[in-house]
Amino acid sequence: MTSTAFDNVIAEFEPVIGLETHIELGTQTKMFCGCSTEFGGDPNTHVCPVCLGLPGSMPAVNRTAVESTIRMGLALNCSIAPWSRFARKNYFYPDMPKNYQISQYDEPLCINGFLDVTVITEDGPRVFRVEIERVHMEEDTGKLTHGGGAGRIHGATHSLVDYNRAGIPLIEVVTKPIAGTGSLAPDVAKAYVTELRELMRALGVSDVRMEEGSLRCDVNVSLARTGESWGTRTETKNVNSLRSVERAVRTEMIRQAERLRDGNRIVQETRHFNEETGNTTSGRSKEQAEDYRYFPEPDLIPVAPSEEWISELRTTLPEIPSVRRARLQQVWGISDFDMASLVNAGALDLIEQTIHSGVSEQAARKWWMGEFSRIANERGCDLVDLTVQPLDIRQVESLIASGDLTDKLARSVFEGVIAGEGSVAEVISRRGLKVVSDDTSLIAAIEQALAEQPDVAEKIKSGKLQAAGAIVGAVMKATQGQADAAKVRGLLFELLGISE
Ligand code: ADP
Ligand code: MG
Ligand code: ZN
Repeated sequence: MTSTAFDNVIAEFEPVIGLETHIELGTQTKMFCGCSTEFGGDPNTHVCPVCLGLPGSMPAVNRTAVESTIRMGLALNCSIAPWSRFARKNYFYPDMPKNYQISQYDEPLCINGFLDVTVITEDGPRVFRVEIERVHMEEDTGKLTHGGGAGRIHGATHSLVDYNRAGIPLIEVVTKPIAGTGSLAPDVAKAYVTELRELMRALGVSDVRMEEGSLRCDVNVSLARTGESWGTRTETKNVNSLRSVERAVRTEMIRQAERLRDGNRIVQETRHFNEETGNTTSGRSKEQAEDYRYFPEPDLIPVAPSEEWISELRTTLPEIPSVRRARLQQVWGISDFDMASLVNAGALDLIEQTIHSGVSEQAARKWWMGEFSRIANERGCDLVDLTVQPLDIRQVESLIASGDLTDKLARSVFEGVIAGEGSVAEVISRRGLKVVSDDTSLIAAIEQALAEQPDVAEKIKSGKLQAAGAIVGAVMKATQGQADAAKVRGLLFELLGISE
């Protein structure tokens, strides 16, 4: 998507972006206590003195969370600090019962990594190396619900607080400033978050569902006139979908350019992203680090992973998604573009699982990228949310191979499965979807069609074979599409005593 407003920004300015991504880990228990991290319990049922910040309670670090963080760091090509510490970040907000958040500040666990991301441009794929500044551990806050108004704090008559989420392990991945992307800045931002999400999913450390808030992004943007030093950045908070990441960068670039052109300065501030309009609005002016009065957390011992532990964790790393994609692309013999659309559609795992279940690679791609993508699009959901399973596809494909289903009937089977009408077998029997292959009933239908169109038989006999289409069509109609067209054609010629 391009616009004149955006093209004009690029003519005059160079964007610099930076992304801070928060990822909720999928550990069983919270970061500093044994409370459950399960999503959705009754409010304030997954809480204890530690995550409620009651006086005298003592936190202890979750070992699995540290392991996950080290694995994330290693996968992001970071160095793992032999010694790192937690810090208290002091501020008041009702969703945070301790009045401080335990985080990491100047002594994070992982530093100086990178993640290569690919953007498909008109001139083909381009790889950008996004440098990672640090990966650190912290804890999530509780959740506020504002009542009596429009669900926002403004106009609310009361607010409720649920501390179930307070203390869930949160990992922050911070990039170094990303320069030199020019007009591709919005795409690089989106590609980075996409790639990071894929990587986390491959590591199995988080379910990284942006809609449920287990992956959230803060998007930093600044502009500089071409050739000059970097400008002041704004930070757009809690951008909660891939599309929004792309839009937040784009609209913020346009907004900043307009201000700069009018001779205004950019104020360093946090901004909110409006999902409906795609615009950002001013939040609060940005705190400086000193406002938080960071100091080392006195209740926790430093995290000092041994060399052996780190090497052991290194052996648990999965195949990195970009490597896996390159491998599959080669095996399947598909273009960069096809691979990119497949990944964008979230179909890679599904296609691979389908192939593993015994379906041909081409059929697997055809179903997921064709029919299922269309249905997912219509329903505004993701492919994984459709109820169809790889084994269903295998079953349907073998029915196609044995001539029991046509392509058209197969689509109807899946439509039924996705609509919740039952298993493949149940949908076939409920919707009556078997191919009519029994010769006698087909021959009866052909004879009927010939009787209704008496001139056709003569035409075919005189050599106009294409006239057969009218009869085949009529039979298909009579059997409600449940006949195999090639078979009908064969039977018709047999009946008329001619060979093709
Ligand atoms: P804060 O806690 O103030 O948000 P962080 O260091 O956590 O600071 O994150 C700042 C983010 O902004 C990083 O991703 C960094 O790379 C990025 N950044 C820093 N300077 C600029 C700039 N001039 N333009 C765009 N992004 C920037
Ligand atoms: Mg920040
Ligand atoms: Zn607790």
